[in-house]
Amino acid sequence: MASATLMTYFLLSITNTCNKSCEYCVVKPWLNNPEYPDKATAEDFISFLEKEMQPDDIVELTGGEPTLFPNLLLLLEWLKEHGARVIMRTNGFKLGAWRKDFPNMIVVLARHDSDDEYMTERRVHLLEYDVVSEKIPEGAEQTEPNMPVHIKSELYPLDSHGIKRALFITNDGNIKFMPCMDVSMGNIIDLNYNLNQWDCISMSRCPYMLGAWNLITKLEQTNWNSVPTN
Ligand code: SF4
Repeated sequence: MASATLMTYFLLSITNTCNKSCEYCVVKPWLNNPEYPDKATAEDFISFLEKEMQPDDIVELTGGEPTLFPNLLLLLEWLKEHGARVIMRTNGFKLGAWRKDFPNMIVVLARHDSDDEYMTERRVHLLEYDVVSEKIPEGAEQTEPNMPVHIKSELYPLDSHGIKRALFITNDGNIKFMPCMDVSMGNIIDLNYNLNQWDCISMSRCPYMLGAWNLITKLEQTNWNSVPTN
C-alpha cells in the first residue's frame, strides 16, 4: 500500500435519503426527515476535496443510501481522476452497470432486509473484490433495540492502520473529526473551516478507521488498476 505522511480518511455522509428504514440505522434521527434536508452537492464535496485530498487518500461514501445521491457519478468520476481509493457502503438500491467504471472503489453491498432475488440482481454489478455483507452492519453489534450499533474492531483481521487524519462530513456540509466527537471544524459549503482542531488519543484503535483500512487493503491486494471492467 502506498504510504503518505498525512493519509486522510474522508467519511462522507452524502445523503440522508434512503429507501429503507432499518431499526439499527446510525443516522435514523435524520433519515428521510424533512427537518434535515441534504445541503451539500457533489460540487460542494468536490470543491472541498480539491483543497484537502491527496492521491491515495481514502474516501468512504455512505448515507443514507449513497446511490440515491444526485450527481453521484460526477463525484465518483472526480475521485477516480484524482487517485482516491473509494469505499461505498450501499444497500444496492440504484447500483448499476456504472459500478464497473470505478475499479478504484470497493463496494460493500449490505443485505439489510432484502430478499435473495434482490441480492442476486444486485450482485451482478459487483467486481471480484467487492464485499457482500449478509449480517448487518458488518462487524456490528446492537446492545439495545432501536439504539445505534457499535462496530467491533476485533472482528477485523488487521489491528493497525496507516490513517493519520480522519474527517467526517455530513450532508449539511458540517465537518467533524469523526462521528464519536461532536465538534464542528466548520463547513464545506462555504469552505469556511479550520482542520487543525482534529485530535484523538485512541485514533490508532478506532474501529471506523480499522474497518476502512481493512477494506482498502483488500482493494490494494487485487491490483485494481488492472482489473478488467467489462
Ligand atoms: S439501508 Fe442503511 S442507511 Fe438505509 S435505513 Fe438501513 S442502515 Fe440506514
